[in-house]
Amino acid sequence: MKTADVKPDVFLSRLKKGQSRRECFAALLGALEKPLADFGQGSFVGIKMTVGDEASTGFIKPELVRVLVENLKSRGAKPFVFDTNVIYSGQRQNAVDHLNLAYRKGFTPDALGCPYIIADSVFGTDSRSVRTDFRHTKEIKVPSLITALDHLIVLSHVTGHVMSGFAGSVKNVAMGMASRAGKQIQHSSLKPYIKTDNCTLCGACIDHCPVSAIAEVSGKAYINSRICIGCCECISACKVDAVGINWKEDADIFAERMAEYACAILSLIRNRLFFNFALDVTRECDCIAGNDASIAPDTGIFVSLDVLAADRACYDLLTTSRDIFSRGGKIRAHLHEFAYAEEIGLGKGSYRLIEVRKSGSGKE
Ligand code: SF4
Ligand code: SF4
Repeated sequence: MKTADVKPDVFLSRLKKGQSRRECFAALLGALEKPLADFGQGSFVGIKMTVGDEASTGFIKPELVRVLVENLKSRGAKPFVFDTNVIYSGQRQNAVDHLNLAYRKGFTPDALGCPYIIADSVFGTDSRSVRTDFRHTKEIKVPSLITALDHLIVLSHVTGHVMSGFAGSVKNVAMGMASRAGKQIQHSSLKPYIKTDNCTLCGACIDHCPVSAIAEVSGKAYINSRICIGCCECISACKVDAVGINWKEDADIFAERMAEYACAILSLIRNRLFFNFALDVTRECDCIAGNDASIAPDTGIFVSLDVLAADRACYDLLTTSRDIFSRGGKIRAHLHEFAYAEEIGLGKGSYRLIEVRKSGSGKE
């Protein structure tokens, strides 16, 4: 078989009745002796994850992260948890507020067993350019840490997303590991507009816009596209479908940019492992406040060396009866992202699913 035809392994630890999440995660780690052996003595292992918005509840909890941290420390590795600052409103626009939020949500060094750092500095200005050559992306902008990191483990809480439909490891890498400047570039094709017939001028979008691009004009909200950074906050904020977007072109280009960013970022890092937590799967991502209604049963935890295979396997299993991420067929960008990501070599869309039966064993 040619190497190109080999399907990457995706391991799945299903959450069993009566089993704790810690046990489910520990069973999965027990089946990963070979991949985890690469994260050994003396290696600095960056664990990428996010605590989400102040009010979000579905995020991966510190006690689960600690299971991984202890496993890595037992191998002599030096793990640390990291995230980056965001471009939209809330407590994660700078490292001081961001760290205080993380501590309030339980991500203290004591709870984690390792430090929690914000990779792009206090004001999110640590941003290095790295040349690349994709359709949209000729350079990426990432914190300098990313250019020096050899060992990366990505922990992603699987959710829906207002623009990309499905959000898992690819989005966590592409957006979550870019500097604020890199995030803005990925959002730059998104230009929402107000559907004036629907707008009740409730003001929610005006309050949520991080760059004051929305104002009242003639009794309706109006978006100044020259100021707008395409962050999508207004789309989530509007409850009456009065914020429109070109769902086909804008969302597909957004998906392509994310795939390109993920591909370029991961090309910088030698050892990578991607966990997708299909637990408390919510309609919106953890950046959205008050987002705690689950849209799928708790399934378990997936892991793969291949970022795309990890996402695809998770997506396939969660959508066997219907595509819960498409919002009634309105959002298709995740399907475009899967296809484009494979086309540019980010990973494989086909895989070999191996279910972990107990610690250290697996079955296809
Ligand atoms: S949130 Fe929606 S209804 Fe409210 S002002 Fe904005 S566009 Fe209008
Ligand atoms: S108008 Fe909407 S998409 Fe543009 S910056 Fe404001 S909240 Fe973000």
